[in-house]
Amino acid sequence: MQKILFWFRRDLRAYDNAGLSAALSVGGLVHCVFVFDREILDALHSRSDRRVEFIWHSIKKLAEELRDLGGSLHVLYGKAREEIPALAQRLAVNAVYCNRDYEPAARNRDAAVLESLATIGIGFLDFKDQAVFEKTELLTQAGKPFTVFTPYKNAWIKNLHTVQLDAWPVESLAQYFSWDEVAPIPTLEEMGFETSNLLKKGFVPGSAGAQQVLADFLGRMSHYRVMRDFPGKKGVSYLSVHQRFGTISIRELARHALANGSEGAQSWLSELIWRDFYFQILFNFPHAASGSFKREYDALQFDQDPDLLLAWQQGKTGYPLVDAAMRQLLESGFMHNRLRMVAASFLVKDLMIDWRAGEAWFAEQLNDFDLSANNGGWQWAASTGCDAQPYFRIFNPISQSEKFDPEGAFIRRYVPELQGVSDRYIHAPWMMPTTEQDLCGVKLPRDYPMPVVDHAKARERALARYKAVRTAS
Ligand SMILES: Cc1cc2nc3c(=O)[nH]c(=O)nc-3n(C[C@H](O)[C@H](O)[C@H](O)COP(=O)(O)OP(=O)(O)OC[C@H]3O[C@@H](n4cnc5c(N)ncnc54)[C@H](O)[C@@H]3O)c2cc1C
Repeated sequence: MQKILFWFRRDLRAYDNAGLSAALSVGGLVHCVFVFDREILDALHSRSDRRVEFIWHSIKKLAEELRDLGGSLHVLYGKAREEIPALAQRLAVNAVYCNRDYEPAARNRDAAVLESLATIGIGFLDFKDQAVFEKTELLTQAGKPFTVFTPYKNAWIKNLHTVQLDAWPVESLAQYFSWDEVAPIPTLEEMGFETSNLLKKGFVPGSAGAQQVLADFLGRMSHYRVMRDFPGKKGVSYLSVHQRFGTISIRELARHALANGSEGAQSWLSELIWRDFYFQILFNFPHAASGSFKREYDALQFDQDPDLLLAWQQGKTGYPLVDAAMRQLLESGFMHNRLRMVAASFLVKDLMIDWRAGEAWFAEQLNDFDLSANNGGWQWAASTGCDAQPYFRIFNPISQSEKFDPEGAFIRRYVPELQGVSDRYIHAPWMMPTTEQDLCGVKLPRDYPMPVVDHAKARERALARYKAVRTAS
């Protein structure tokens, strides 16, 4: 009888799971495992990392879901590249199955696991699960990977057959799960972590949590196009952390968007396609993980200014929308997409700090951190990426604020010291005359910082630096 070990990674659900379904379809016995990988955990800066806690709760739920299906989940704490071959050998399986991960570090780890397994005569098979189209499945007519989004999106839609979005069966194959005696799930404390404010901030881990978030969004999906840019309103789906850890299936989301069919749903589907787009960019152009996608921009001159970087990280730049965004990130691990664009543009083009410093800060803080989307977003904002914001488009943090948070509701939520400032000055409080400051009880810089840079001057400096690169190349 064929015995398979299914290894969960970014796919923490027991339904519509391509690799798990493939393992069960063999018709033998399927054991399941998840590894809290020390190679990842030991490198994290914070001991109260919300992502670790999200995974931990999701794993507890997953173990329950598997138990309900007659299976069980081995949960290990160690180095995956050692733990997986050791467990596979102990269980005497024929093969290890999992879903593909496209990040360079994950690919290295998987190559090492494959090699170790091969030496003990155990197979290793991976499956497409987290993307609808992956790697080189979609190519231009010239046979090259796409580097521009709109033609990629057109090809994505043209090549999509609804059968590709069908759910992979798991429940109907549940008889093939192996029920094993398993050790208790290690606690966060045993792994050197502590509880964060994740649950207090309203995040509900696990696939049941994902379904709650989805159900809430389905009623709002048709309004997505008009609502998506206002951080103070509930316009977006808030599903990214579930997509990141696979507590929801991408096929399920795309099916909902297609079935809805409204303008809002089409616009949302486009965002899901951006996700696939950036997966294939990182896969086909791995140099972008550490350097500019457009290599000439590696010559762009940046400033080293730890004080300015800290002011940006802590939400103390004196620009209320940027500060509200950065404090939302610090407090909750989430930042609205419009604000990610504004905050990233501010760091790179107003402060002239290397986009990689911002990318690293987001990587540390974002619950939904994903190397391909984060790198793609940063290089878009820095104009160094594929299909990026043109270098001469520089977000004005004041007009962005007036347009997308007109009453300052979002600003007041995250920058409470500006509560009393009137709508007229909320976007640029330094413009308040002293009489107005006395009136509203907010004195600058006593209660809130003056702007760390003058946007108009910073804009001119950025344009000059970008032009210097373009002239030289
Ligand atoms: C500088 C910067 C950094 C970013 N870093 C990340 C990151 O680390 N992880 C991440 O998932 N997204 C990242 N994004 C993309 C986007 O901001 C988030 O996906 C979105 O804000 C998540 O909220 P939501 O689920 O409510 O999104 P919705 O607006 O509801 O979008 C639905 C889904 O589409 C996908 N999506 C949306 N926009 C993008 C995009 N631009 N690129 C790729 N996928 C997208 C996400 O999976 C998202 O959950 C980044 C964007 C920028 C500008």
